[in-house]
Amino acid sequence: MKALVFRGPGQKAWEEVPDPKILAGTDAIVRIESTTICGTDLHILKGDVPDVTDGRILGHEGVGVITEVGDAVTGLAVGDRVIISCITACGKCEFCVAGLQSHCLASEGASGIGWILGHLIDGTQAEFVRVPFAETSLHRLPEGLALETAVLLSDILPTGHEICVQYGGVKAGDVVAVVGAGPVGLAAVMTAQLYGPSKVIAIDLDANRAELALQFGATHAVVSSDSDWREQVMALTDGLGVDVAIEAVGIPRTWDMAVEMVRPGGHVANVGVHGAPVEFPLDRLWIQNLTITTGLVNANTARMLTKLVAEQRIDPSGFVSHLFALDDIESAYDTFSRAAETKALKVVLN
Ligand code: NAD
Ligand code: ZN
Repeated sequence: MKALVFRGPGQKAWEEVPDPKILAGTDAIVRIESTTICGTDLHILKGDVPDVTDGRILGHEGVGVITEVGDAVTGLAVGDRVIISCITACGKCEFCVAGLQSHCLASEGASGIGWILGHLIDGTQAEFVRVPFAETSLHRLPEGLALETAVLLSDILPTGHEICVQYGGVKAGDVVAVVGAGPVGLAAVMTAQLYGPSKVIAIDLDANRAELALQFGATHAVVSSDSDWREQVMALTDGLGVDVAIEAVGIPRTWDMAVEMVRPGGHVANVGVHGAPVEFPLDRLWIQNLTITTGLVNANTARMLTKLVAEQRIDPSGFVSHLFALDDIESAYDTFSRAAETKALKVVLN
């Protein structure tokens, strides 16, 4: 089959590789019908993710049709169309039962984390993919859901929902600020609606991104240079600050912003992956009674979110800025890596 293979920092190739095979009774093989390129793929390509080795097939979002199942798989069959979770997990170990699929003990992943597709095991930017623990890691696609919408349920929507909105404890009436209106921040904006916030303030340096957030449910867009956000956020909160600040960029400056804009008793939910150390102002966190949460997505709300998308309670179709054919993946990478110019948000390969 053909797949997009990581060949060391800065190097990738769409090349012929062996077809994946069933290695355990709990595996399934899925023929990919839709996959995406994510910011994480660009981090991997830069060489920022040391666990990813030469020869790894990239991609962790996917939808497709099951072509083979192991002999222990029940409840799924050849021909089923499924959403593939970005993290495969046994569903039975102590951490899975606790909802921490990203730390599934059965996966034996490097660094003590679960089997993330396109990272620790081969991923979805390929004609076929092997999915371990198929029963917990594949979700049947409801009728009528477009492939390019369904594929957003693998990772991006669960990440925004779980790490930003659930961990942030967003509740009815809250004022929520989302710093960074990239795909993850916008997924937080969208899924925050499920909990009835009174205001959702999206903040981005890029006017396009901030304005886009209004289409995803933000009530206010703040186009911010690094200094003028404070006045605008305080004006929107009667000078008190926000209840929940979501850090969805991953740089020290936006972490500082998120901590600074929260009112006493408020919550900072960090989803950004920080390559550089951040200041941790324990004295302020203490005296202001602040709560900080962060973590790796578990994708354990994907089935619930799938129902909401199928019932049109949330509509993530606006995430898809570009569609390419799978074998045109090199052009898709080029478009995605020049997002400021191309206005790429989610680049989907169908
Ligand atoms: P992205 O780079 O596409 O979007 C980031 C946005 O932040 C952009 O729109 C950019 O214009 C904006 N931004 C940059 N600097 C800013 C500043 N100073 N002030 C305001 N806005 C600024 O990233 P993404 O794909 O949306 O991901 C966001 C973060 O979430 C990344 O750090 C990513 O690694 C992380 N992530 C975490 C998990 C997890 O499990 N915790 C999963 C996926 C992604
Ligand atoms: Zn497990």
